[in-house]
Amino acid sequence: MGEFVLARQNGRNIPKEDKNFGISNRAKAMMAEVGEDKVINATIGTLMDDEGKLVVLSSVDKVFQSLKPEDYAAYAPIRGLEGFREAVKKAALGSYQPKGFVEAAATPGGTGSLRNTVSIYSEPGDKILTTDWHWGPYKTIATEIGRDVATFELFNDERTFNAESFKKATSELLEKQNSLVVILNTPAHNPTGYSLTEEDWDKVVAVLTAAADAGKAIVLLVDAAYIDFAGDEEEYRRFLPKLETMPENVLPIIAYSMSKTFTLYGARCGAMICLAKTEAIAEEFKQICEFSSRGTWSNGTRFAQTILTKIYADEELLAKVSEERAHYRNMLLARGRGFEEEAAKVDLEIVPFDAGFFVSIPCDDPEGVCAKLEKEGVFLIPMGKGIRVSVASIPEAACRRIPAMIKKAMTE
Ligand code: PLP
Repeated sequence: MGEFVLARQNGRNIPKEDKNFGISNRAKAMMAEVGEDKVINATIGTLMDDEGKLVVLSSVDKVFQSLKPEDYAAYAPIRGLEGFREAVKKAALGSYQPKGFVEAAATPGGTGSLRNTVSIYSEPGDKILTTDWHWGPYKTIATEIGRDVATFELFNDERTFNAESFKKATSELLEKQNSLVVILNTPAHNPTGYSLTEEDWDKVVAVLTAAADAGKAIVLLVDAAYIDFAGDEEEYRRFLPKLETMPENVLPIIAYSMSKTFTLYGARCGAMICLAKTEAIAEEFKQICEFSSRGTWSNGTRFAQTILTKIYADEELLAKVSEERAHYRNMLLARGRGFEEEAAKVDLEIVPFDAGFFVSIPCDDPEGVCAKLEKEGVFLIPMGKGIRVSVASIPEAACRRIPAMIKKAMTE
């Protein structure tokens, strides 16, 4: 990594190009050369249909098409339209009625929510805690604003949630810092597809409850980007009441995203939603969210906020959107199961998987194995501890075909 000419490095590790888009571009180039049917591009983090076309919920598109100029041209209030703030709480929480003080602030996608939670609830020099398998941009977000990432092991030797590692990392960081932001991406974690079970959640809550004794500021940021692509939407929200059992100095925040749930990736809309124990903490949340939004992206995207407001104001429309999403979710779940079944047949180990856009394979030489597979027209993402496969972007038949190819490339 060379130094910049004029730009400052400021402790960041800045690559020449985004790795994932680079691989995807190679896949597209190969498709143009040898034909689309000879290439499997399992790098993309958006849901594609079996023909390789972006899935867009037609019910959501209809709302978009009906918008009037004032729905998109005007500024939205800094923290988001009031109707949006109410709608997004329902979208994130489902039927759960929180006991505490719930506030929402509009953000550009889940990414905006992650970025401002890190900037608001940690100090320069702090380390943000997340799992060893994690979405790369967490590190980008942290280092971009003078923080860094520390990790704990998501799984123990029994292939279950590693509460011991979580506890150790939490207490080590809290010995050194006055604040701690923990990011847990669940359900349908990127890149493994793991979803924390009810028992896992009990352990997380117990660790953070004990850690809260020292009186420091702790934020549990639940990155729920894939919450509506894991399975039954109510069942996968059962963990929510547990978040409200922790002491007041552990603030749960949900990083909500409209990108996947409403297939509005490019609309850049999401929210930070806090479940505060006291009114004072909720008021502080509102005040600082306004300040930090103003200092980053200013106002959010009004049209996307309007779309969500309209969907939640019309029961019939909401039912239609949910039904349409369920159809595509079933398509996605079948792909994940197909991959799992075929992996088992050829004895290919995968990281504990539940659902969602991605499956991961532990691997000592991810770069080497991915390079071999690229020659055969299979494009995957090499990561620190293994290889990520996007089942969201390829048909079930391809999901069933590639486990044997990966196994072969790994053992050759
Ligand atoms: N968190 C994870 C783990 C993701 O994979 C993504 C998107 O790929 C996001 C958050 C946020 O996406 P967006 O900013 O588009 O809402």
